[in-house]
Amino acid sequence: MSGTIRYRMPDGAEIVSEDGSTVTMHVTLPSDDAGHFGRRCPSCKRIFRMHVEDYHALPDDLRLTCPYCCAEEDHGEFITEQQKDRAMAAAGEYAQQLVAGKLDEMFSVLARKVNSRRGAIRIKYSGGSSRTVRPRPLPPIVEEAPIRERQCAQCSNRYAVFGEHVACPVCGPFRPRVMAEDALEAQEVALAALDQVPDAVLAQLREAGSLERTAAGALGSVVSILETFLKQTFLDRVTGGDTLIVGKGNVFQRLDDAAQLYQDHLGVDLSSGMGTDEWDRLCLLYGIRHLATHANGVVDQKHLTRFPAHGFVLGQRVHVTLADAREAIQLARKLVGAVP
Ligand SMILES: [Zn+2]
Ligand SMILES: [Zn+2]
Repeated sequence: MSGTIRYRMPDGAEIVSEDGSTVTMHVTLPSDDAGHFGRRCPSCKRIFRMHVEDYHALPDDLRLTCPYCCAEEDHGEFITEQQKDRAMAAAGEYAQQLVAGKLDEMFSVLARKVNSRRGAIRIKYSGGSSRTVRPRPLPPIVEEAPIRERQCAQCSNRYAVFGEHVACPVCGPFRPRVMAEDALEAQEVALAALDQVPDAVLAQLREAGSLERTAAGALGSVVSILETFLKQTFLDRVTGGDTLIVGKGNVFQRLDDAAQLYQDHLGVDLSSGMGTDEWDRLCLLYGIRHLATHANGVVDQKHLTRFPAHGFVLGQRVHVTLADAREAIQLARKLVGAVP
């Protein structure tokens, strides 16, 4: 019916077919300099990016996993706002030309009918020829992009994420070890960014307490990363492991208790596995983190008793340094490596 309408679509949009009221259109989603294009999780709304070439090789009925929250949906659900705007602009252009084309058809028919009746009235209709249509360019896509590209060791797909992530968008949730290593690396990269900050700005940050908060945050993250790793690995490997930890609170946040569970049920000696000096050092950093989180950094009797030979004074305030945070990341890597 609309075969007479000749559409002129903007660059990046192409009408593939018209079947009744169904129109199929291809709209390109331009990739960035790294060859990535954006994906937005329909659940947590966070953005990640995927390599466009790898993506094209994936099946049409692909389901994606959000690398941050593990929500799994059809890949079409992962459209970003800017991609949606671009698709809507293409659809709008089509609709506009469709309406103009229909009016053109109607007036042409009307003109022919009137003119065929030899009356005094004649209609001259020159119409909106497709030559006069100048489609508006589609809006470009300018989305924030992470610098570092990742490649899944399992499926080889390339993608980029902001911060820590827990799943490959294509093959799903990581094993605990991969997740922990990635999270530790993300912490390391975040701290390394401080090396690029000019000294004057760094001094201001130090004065405002930002560096101390950053260090404490990084150390807290290391504790959480290890807790997740130790817990998940334990539950994966020990049958009935979940009942063993009932009533034990955040047992995997307490290194000595976690070590006992590993010894008793997996026959793994975490402290000798990573080196006892390193183990003691990690325990001490956990102790400092505990004070920073629960006692405003003020040394209490429990801390003194647990770490007698470190020169702490009751009531003294300790704080987490960037060196502490960096050391904790390295020690955490060793601990992860100590689990066979
Ligand atoms: Zn998500
Ligand atoms: Zn993968």
